[in-house]
Amino acid sequence: MPQTSSKPILRFAPSPNGLLHIGHAFSALYTWNAAAALGGTALLRIEDTDPERSKPEFVTAIIEDLHWLGLHWPEPVMQQSTRFDIYAAAGNDLRDQHLLYPCFCSRSAIAAASTQTDPDGAPLYPGTCKHLNRGEQIERLKRGDPVQFRLDTTAALSRVGMLTFTVVGPLVTDRPQIRHARPERWGDVVLQRKGTPTSYHLSCVVDDAAQGITHVTRGRDMEPATDLHVLLQMLLGLPSPIYHFHKLILDDAGRKLAKSRGSENLASLRAKGWTPKDVRQAVGL
Ligand code: GLU
Repeated sequence: MPQTSSKPILRFAPSPNGLLHIGHAFSALYTWNAAAALGGTALLRIEDTDPERSKPEFVTAIIEDLHWLGLHWPEPVMQQSTRFDIYAAAGNDLRDQHLLYPCFCSRSAIAAASTQTDPDGAPLYPGTCKHLNRGEQIERLKRGDPVQFRLDTTAALSRVGMLTFTVVGPLVTDRPQIRHARPERWGDVVLQRKGTPTSYHLSCVVDDAAQGITHVTRGRDMEPATDLHVLLQMLLGLPSPIYHFHKLILDDAGRKLAKSRGSENLASLRAKGWTPKDVRQAVGL
């Protein structure tokens, strides 16, 4: 279902598990530029559903960095950690459609049994727990074994027929193209786990719809994940925004910038005397 709202709404949706680096600055500036070009609004959404990695101090730092870059957004900011009941309801919707199943496999068991990788290079789930019968599922759930709930992607795909999404680029105002989605390359993804009734994919589609997002501007590395998002939108009866995949800012070795590799963050550039103009110049915006 394509999004039909007349007022363009875009979003920048960082996960507060580290400081923003120059790649995030590019993505944020790109989104605000695109919103201005379309005569629309850019929103900030904090994607803090991972209880282990999200830290409130990073939320504060992200807001400070974005303000320093000169970016502003309507308040209040959507913070996903306040919306677990909404994601749980979306999970229940999928459960009612018999599309979620419990999985008790450890990471190492999956790695040992898997023969393929997903688009992120992680071992593709080999479907081990899909074959547990109801009695075994109940028994293991009662025992309190660590559990994750996976989407039965094959069953899901058989319900929705051909899946496509709309892409524009390089400027958001370009002529749209229709792209074919292939969520099967992700296998049976985890959508919920014990204690956390959501995953990035689930809360992303729920909130893009809740915020009325008409255009999603995200890095090229996120293009494969969009296949899954389109599938979830169909299953949950949610609108599908228009997508634009922007270039990635790479490090000197040609690799994607990553907090985990210690890529230089905006706060340290600022401390070295960089101005917002220097950042814009560095990323070409
Ligand atoms: N929280 C995700 C990230 O920081 C958002 C990506 C997206 O949906 O555009 O990578």
